[in-house]
Amino acid sequence: MYIETNKQLKHYTTFGIEATAEQFIAIHDGAQLAEVLQSLSGKPLSILGGGSNILVTRDIPGTVLHIALIGIEIVAETNEHVLVRCMAGELWDDLVGWCVERGYSGLENLSAIPGTVGAAPMQNIGAYGVEQEKCFVELSALEIATGNTKLFTKEECVFGYRESVFKHKYQYKFIITSVTYRLNKQPIINAEYKDIQQEFATRNITNPTIADVRSIVTAIRARKLPNPKEIGNAGSFFKNPVISKEKAEQLAEVCESIPLYPIDEHHVKVAAAWLIDQCGYKGYRQGDAGVHVNQALVLVNYGNAQGHDILELSLQIKESVFNQFGITLEREVNVW
Ligand code: FAD
Ligand code: NAP
Repeated sequence: MYIETNKQLKHYTTFGIEATAEQFIAIHDGAQLAEVLQSLSGKPLSILGGGSNILVTRDIPGTVLHIALIGIEIVAETNEHVLVRCMAGELWDDLVGWCVERGYSGLENLSAIPGTVGAAPMQNIGAYGVEQEKCFVELSALEIATGNTKLFTKEECVFGYRESVFKHKYQYKFIITSVTYRLNKQPIINAEYKDIQQEFATRNITNPTIADVRSIVTAIRARKLPNPKEIGNAGSFFKNPVISKEKAEQLAEVCESIPLYPIDEHHVKVAAAWLIDQCGYKGYRQGDAGVHVNQALVLVNYGNAQGHDILELSLQIKESVFNQFGITLEREVNVW
């Protein structure tokens, strides 16, 4: 266990924003967690993984608990499947790499997503047509109020599009300590997204392996997305809005190029990046807060932006999109 007071958090979030934590504790050992929770009883507590989905807008009172529990193990196996339990502090991309190296399929489209395994169920991370819930079996979590351990099944997590019960009913109530996934021993390739198909063609790949998918997704992401080590960001700041089919048809009549993706019979997903771009914000900069030049869904810190500068810009964008399209953008990033 590592404890520090007035800890600078700049290097603990990918936005790279300066702010301090009154107390910072890094937990490497599960047995210590209940003990620490008991000692903190009632005081403010914030849970930190890799900090890649957090915008810090103030100095954080109380304790920031950095979950650094590690370990990956196979807990069950059949001819078709393998069940892998992974501790919450492992890097998500290390877990994906571990699976792909062993020929276990299911998570490869989620390659190169920053952050930890413990945070993955929080917003049901997704990319290139796959969400972590596809392979999810269960997770283990510690209830903050009692220190009791609870197992959550997939149904209990209520996963949705960038959603779970941990962002709503159980927000700030549990610390996720491990997650178990079921992987396929037989590869199932998902190449639904155009960028993946194009890259298969460019590389002359006609019979892709899961290692090809991982390599391609990693390469596309490195090309398209700003690297937080070079420019502070937390990936997509907003979710892609889901609107009614009728509303989508009305919009398509006036904006021919609007990218729409049917979700079900009655709902359609709109690419939020396109909406923001149409409002003139792509590449926009206000002091050190900005919108990335190539990806309008990603807000960036050019160096010395404060959390509230980024938040303020996000509110302007939200208002502008609403005024132009009548669509309310919802934040994906967690604001502290
Ligand atoms: P943090 O940012 O540390 O925390 C996020 C939230 O989860 C906070 O509310 C925190 O309190 C809570 N939390 C963290 N760990 C735990 C725990 N163990 N128990 C309970 N609560 C916890 N997301 C996608 O879905 N798809 C993408 O393709 C994607 N691409 C990205 C690309 C870039 C360049 C960046 C910077 C981000 C991207 N993200 C993406 C967002 C982010 O990587 C994910 O949301 C990731 O799961 C966050 O993990 P983290 O460990 O950094 O969580
Ligand atoms: P993209 O492939 O250029 O697509 C733009 C948007 O259109 C995406 O947001 C995607 O929605 C949607 N889309 C594209 N093809 C689709 C299809 N065949 N079916 C349904 N929806 C489709 O997006 P990108 O910016 O390069 O990102 C690639 C993937 O990585 C996306 O899945 C994106 O969500 C993910 N990503 C997420 C974050 C984050 O922080 N959350 C950051 C970077 C990238 P979806 O977003 O629903 O997939």
